[in-house]
Amino acid sequence: MARYGATPNNGVTRLALTDEDRDARNQLRTWFNEAGCETVVDRMGNMFFILPGRNRNLPAVMTGSHCDSQPQGGRFDGILGILAGLEVCRTLQDENMQLERDLIVVNWTNEEGSRFTPGTTGSGVFAGRLNREEMYSLTDRNGLTFGGELRRIGYMGETDFDPRPLHANFEYHIEQGPVLERSGNTIGVPKGIVCLRWYDVNLHGVPNHAGPTPMNERQDAVYAFACMAREIFQIGLNADEVVATVGEVHPTPNSRNVIAGHCRFTIDVRGWDETETDRVCADIKWAIAAMAKKTGCSADIRQTWAVERAPFHPDLVQLVHDSADRLKLPALDMVSGASHDTVYINQFTPSAMIFVPSIGGRSHAEIEETSWADCAAGADVLLHCILRTGNDPEAISYRKN
Ligand SMILES: [Zn+2]
Repeated sequence: MARYGATPNNGVTRLALTDEDRDARNQLRTWFNEAGCETVVDRMGNMFFILPGRNRNLPAVMTGSHCDSQPQGGRFDGILGILAGLEVCRTLQDENMQLERDLIVVNWTNEEGSRFTPGTTGSGVFAGRLNREEMYSLTDRNGLTFGGELRRIGYMGETDFDPRPLHANFEYHIEQGPVLERSGNTIGVPKGIVCLRWYDVNLHGVPNHAGPTPMNERQDAVYAFACMAREIFQIGLNADEVVATVGEVHPTPNSRNVIAGHCRFTIDVRGWDETETDRVCADIKWAIAAMAKKTGCSADIRQTWAVERAPFHPDLVQLVHDSADRLKLPALDMVSGASHDTVYINQFTPSAMIFVPSIGGRSHAEIEETSWADCAAGADVLLHCILRTGNDPEAISYRKN
């Protein structure tokens, strides 16, 4: 797969709905067909590879991830979860085994959101949380539309596909952080995905000449920003498992000999514990007010997005852990700091994820790497989770009553 969109430094650039994405999709379709699967493509270009079970009336088990990448991204992010699903199908074929339930391996369209923003569009529309027509009209940097590009590469299906209710969903993915490698564990068992808060901050100072204005008479928006950024970092550093990031900074006029009169910046706060996350946000607001006062600038802070945490189904989380134990793979309970397609699927299907270590904790970069042994270990855990849930008798349901 890494050949589709290969970059000189061992990474991939396989942006959603490009020729590279199309070629990768064609390859997936061929491989899954050879492994005994039917392929269905819905109107968002989501590809569903269906391995028929013995009792096709039972709710199916789902797994999968995404095959698009970031620009100059890694070879494992997303695609590992789809290829592991393929490996599960091949293993069942090799062993002449048929599951009781259908197994559906999915390739979700545009998870990364790099070419067309927002990301996780395929799973978001599938979950009914994003509007298909609105997503069709998203444009990339060159003014090409999502809908136009989906049609151009031949992946705009003619009907929707709705296999709901689903019995269980597993997404296998690289960790994209340093925790597993550092702790010496092979399998990460996230209990869910952290909550998230986004803010925009607008600072107003007084624009003036960089030369004649005395230092003690300045209302410098960049200085105010710098004081605030330092505080925000410290608050995150001292918090209990909450992270705080200043990601975007836009000073105006952004000129070397002008004291900036305005500065806009963004804050991203994430944590598992909603109360602790909200406490961090309150501390940040307080620090911004204090630093505004100290620097003679005014600040207004506005929340632009908030997502509640997504706890996975405890029985399936336990099943991932038990499967790792049975395979004698050291496993660590953790949370996912990154978002995934499963955030959406988890809203209507009992779900869990399986992580494997990212060497050096690096991802969204060409250097992204996971050892083949760890890739195989994660696929083994996935296989065991699918063997169990895919053979669950009709009476078993993971839903809350
Ligand atoms: Zn991913």
